[in-house]
Amino acid sequence: MSNYYLTFSDFLKKKFGQKVYKVTLDAGFSCPNRDGTLSSDGCIFCDDSGSFSRLYSPTLPIEEQLQVGMVKIKNRYHAEKFLAYFQAYTNTYKPVNELKQLYDKVFIDNVVGMSIGTRPDCVDEEKLDLISSYNVDNRFIQVEYGIQSVHDKTLKFINRGHDFACFEKACKKSKERGLTVCAHVILGLPNETYDDMMQTAKTLAKMSIDGIKIHMLAVMEGTKIQKMFDEGKINLMSEEDYISTVCDFLEYLPPDMIIQRLAGNGKREIRIQPRWLGKKLELVGKMEKEFERRGTKQGSKFSK
Ligand code: SF4
Repeated sequence: MSNYYLTFSDFLKKKFGQKVYKVTLDAGFSCPNRDGTLSSDGCIFCDDSGSFSRLYSPTLPIEEQLQVGMVKIKNRYHAEKFLAYFQAYTNTYKPVNELKQLYDKVFIDNVVGMSIGTRPDCVDEEKLDLISSYNVDNRFIQVEYGIQSVHDKTLKFINRGHDFACFEKACKKSKERGLTVCAHVILGLPNETYDDMMQTAKTLAKMSIDGIKIHMLAVMEGTKIQKMFDEGKINLMSEEDYISTVCDFLEYLPPDMIIQRLAGNGKREIRIQPRWLGKKLELVGKMEKEFERRGTKQGSKFSK
């Protein structure tokens, strides 16, 4: 539990009366920004795992991946409740009948919810209707949209292939259906100023978004960002800078927005920089200390 921000773990514990553990899944999706539909290059920071961080058994069918993941977590933490998390690539990028067959498979045993990572330009009314059909029996049903920044100039530069208006539309349609919406942002993107990042916080704070995942720009092997980094074209934030910027960012968010991540690790084997990024717990501890020093917390500067 944190005294400074609403953690995802605390939110789920309150909703379900006990800790809920995420099982990450790879359902074999692709991404229109990688398969040539929009581009074949992908976002400039994306490595070829499609932003996927951990997997229990990648080659198995989805129901077996889930079972294997649950058993491992159960043995390690005595876990009893689980969230199926479709993380890799764009998890709505298939026809709706195929999505139904896939999503239907995860509601087994003690799975109390599902979270689907996708792009805002890869959902439509039909797909959102399908996802909201699982929103019964006090389940937690969430759609996670990669947006990274609210600034169109940045979205263009990082080659997202969609604009902010597209994200706004997807959020609105998701919220109309009672879905939980989580936005992914990256701090330290090329050409973004401190004010740009704070503007992202303030803009997201005004939308009825439920959750947020914050990442630090990392240089991963084989990405466009790596090339830019090698050519000396980008500067990465220092750890101190990142900690301070994240605290500033959280101060602008509503106190009830669920903070689902404060830093991503990226795959250690292909992460080139920054080296300090791997120690997530330590980093989060330093952010809490910074809040303590300031006497502030999430929402301190939030106004409706
Ligand atoms: S949308 Fe996601 S999977 Fe697709 S290129 Fe961008 S980061 Fe990678």
